[in-house]
Amino acid sequence: MVKVSRVEENSVAAELGILPGTELRSVNGRPVSDFLDWEFLTADEELVIEARQPDGEEIIYELERLDGEPLGISLVPPAVRRCANRCEFCFIEGLPAGLRKPLYIRDDDYRLSFAYGNFATLSNVKERDIERILEYRLSPLYVSVHATNHEARKILLNNPRVPDIKAQLGRLAAGGIRFHSQMVIVPTLNDGDVLDESLTDLWNMGDAVLSAAVVPVGLTQFSHLYNGKTMDRETASTILSQVERWGEKAMRERGETWVFGSDELYMLAGRELPGPQHYGEFAQIENGVGAVTALRMRVAQGLDRVKRRDGDRIGVVTGFAMAPLMEPLLAQLTEQSGARFELIVAQNSLFGPTITTAGLLVGRDILTALSDRSDLDYALIPAETINEDSVFLDDFTLEAVRQALPIPIFPSYDFIDVLESETTAVAV
Ligand code: SF4
Repeated sequence: MVKVSRVEENSVAAELGILPGTELRSVNGRPVSDFLDWEFLTADEELVIEARQPDGEEIIYELERLDGEPLGISLVPPAVRRCANRCEFCFIEGLPAGLRKPLYIRDDDYRLSFAYGNFATLSNVKERDIERILEYRLSPLYVSVHATNHEARKILLNNPRVPDIKAQLGRLAAGGIRFHSQMVIVPTLNDGDVLDESLTDLWNMGDAVLSAAVVPVGLTQFSHLYNGKTMDRETASTILSQVERWGEKAMRERGETWVFGSDELYMLAGRELPGPQHYGEFAQIENGVGAVTALRMRVAQGLDRVKRRDGDRIGVVTGFAMAPLMEPLLAQLTEQSGARFELIVAQNSLFGPTITTAGLLVGRDILTALSDRSDLDYALIPAETINEDSVFLDDFTLEAVRQALPIPIFPSYDFIDVLESETTAVAV
């Protein structure tokens, strides 16, 4: 059963009399257990929907949809499938206490992998789930492989009952499902030969594996489970060389890079990031693969839209990881706008100094960085630091941070989004 959360005005659902709170139980005789069933079973043109109204009345709707007309229903979000693993490197286990509850949910849900591109390990999928993936053709999926070697994967996921990922992927691939894969690398556990074995196995699955990302383990000062080695520059460089060798092979044989080191791996290794052609369609940009290169592209393409701001003094807040890469971008923006940009590198007070990603800075860090900067006219902060409700990870709201600061601040994804405004105030 799924429950309706919202019905659009003048929609098919509204005409039928479906209400928020209506339970949708079956479609054309097949039970509806979640949003996937609903999505796929209602793809038919003729629908018989068994439902229960909020007042308890059982009702059957019969309808014919013309040209895939939307029904106009939003569903109550599904209960997320919880993770059955206990990875030592789990970022959730590395969160400090006291954050809002949803941040601690360790989801591992193939449905969200298909719907939103969340990575899932497939450790908790049952036979019924495999059948659904195949029947509904949930493709592509985003899979945290980490290692195809079964013994190594058991250790990495800290789960002796984890299914064999090679067998799982092989079966799904044979059914036409495709994947984007990632390997989070824990030095000495799944780098070196284990990584080669993983890449060989994934490569041998042919077209089914659309991309492979290699990501260094990321730890906070609270990662209490972790007993492994940390990722140093030399290890990152060795892994990157291995990835690049595979990338060259892929380019020669398939005409695409296929396997990518994450931006963080390049930064840790102290190596220059590749240009846009390396990343093709930027398939794993949300996973931090090619994000810096994409930012550079967006700045280059948007420069001519930047308005003159002669004499403005603009602060740009970022984390330690991005700081060295910012200077050339700010030089271009200075030339185009006439403004003076000042890079302000903030330390992460919530996760500790090992977390240097700009997007994980919290409200308190912005306050600390800017509270005595009334000498600036305004400042740009990473837009990734706030959620869709404009709340930072430490529960500070953007509004509260703005009120506490002596200068205006503007969340920005790529500088251009703020600097192209006629007046900066428009962007507030
Ligand atoms: S799979 Fe591992 S890293 Fe992901 S949520 Fe589960 S325990 Fe955490």
